[in-house]
Amino acid sequence: MSRPLVARIDTAALAHNLGLARRLAGPARILAVVKANGYGHGLLRVARALRAADGFAVLTLGEAETLRADGFSHPIVLLEGFFHPDELPAIAHWRLQPVIHREDQAEILARARLDHRVDVFVKVDTGMHRLGLHPKRLQEVVARLQEAESVGSVTLMTHFASADEAEVGVDEQMQAFRKASEGLELPASLANSAALMRYPETQGDWVRPGIMLYGASPFANQTGAGLGLLPAMTLESRVIAQRPLRKGEAVGYGGSFVAAKDMRIGIVACGYADGYPRHAGTGTPVLVEGQHTRTLGRVSMDMLCIDLTPIPNAHVGSLVTLWGEGLPVEEVAASAGTIAYELLTAIAPRVRIEET
Ligand SMILES: *Cc1c(COP(=O)(O)O)cnc(C)c1O
Repeated sequence: MSRPLVARIDTAALAHNLGLARRLAGPARILAVVKANGYGHGLLRVARALRAADGFAVLTLGEAETLRADGFSHPIVLLEGFFHPDELPAIAHWRLQPVIHREDQAEILARARLDHRVDVFVKVDTGMHRLGLHPKRLQEVVARLQEAESVGSVTLMTHFASADEAEVGVDEQMQAFRKASEGLELPASLANSAALMRYPETQGDWVRPGIMLYGASPFANQTGAGLGLLPAMTLESRVIAQRPLRKGEAVGYGGSFVAAKDMRIGIVACGYADGYPRHAGTGTPVLVEGQHTRTLGRVSMDMLCIDLTPIPNAHVGSLVTLWGEGLPVEEVAASAGTIAYELLTAIAPRVRIEET
């Protein structure tokens, strides 16, 4: 048998989560965000499972071309637009919709001679201060784009910095957006997963859910399961060795875990080179044959160590769930001082992926 580590992708869960996004979105159309290899789940696998979405959002031209080559005719948005003008002919050819977030991009596109008009999303910075036009410049840049022969439709867009934090929320950014776009009768795209789930007023014409489609929560204090989502990825492996650890003995690099009493430990085929977070300290939750236990000591490149003391019937070959069904990825992320997004997107290419 080969190395037992596998990421199981539940395509029905992806479809279920899209259904929840659909109910929350009301009449708004859904741009399913499938960047970062479908948040680590596999771009084409995810896109096929989310075929009922109204469009897809990706980062790179390469991802968009992969979708077109597989036959997807949906609108496809490039979330950071074009990185170089030499991408414009392909963007026009493949009917992709770049986000225009800098004035010079607008100018370059407006002057370009292309085979087809390019539909664009124009991003305005309403307070995140990362990408986007200054609100005061929005109207002039939109006018410039609308008069250009190379440009088709214009959709306005902004991104929230704190839709997942109730104390901050979206109010200030919503106000800034309304002010910047006053008088422009154009469709708008505002909401990420957190805004879609918590702030119906951000609905607009296109919503952009990402993390929720994969079954994880955008909120720190809630799991996806608590929000009615189903985990799309379950990372599973098996116990490949077991041994007693006597009181006073240490396990793993640096001997950072020392047994306070006699124990039994298991070694699991999964390490940080697979994308399991090295910062997950002793006590990170894992399941063995569905029963809760914890990691011990430092995560190695290819292995980690778990406590089998509370699971006397565990043996070499026992199934270990690192996250997913029965163990929210958010809990593992919290133990490692990070978020579900990082764990899911960090799954390494060497991890075998199986669809269920
Ligand atoms: C990644 C991304 C999203 C999706 O965000 P989630 O929090 O995963 O829902 C939406 N909009 C933009 C601009 C993004 O870059």
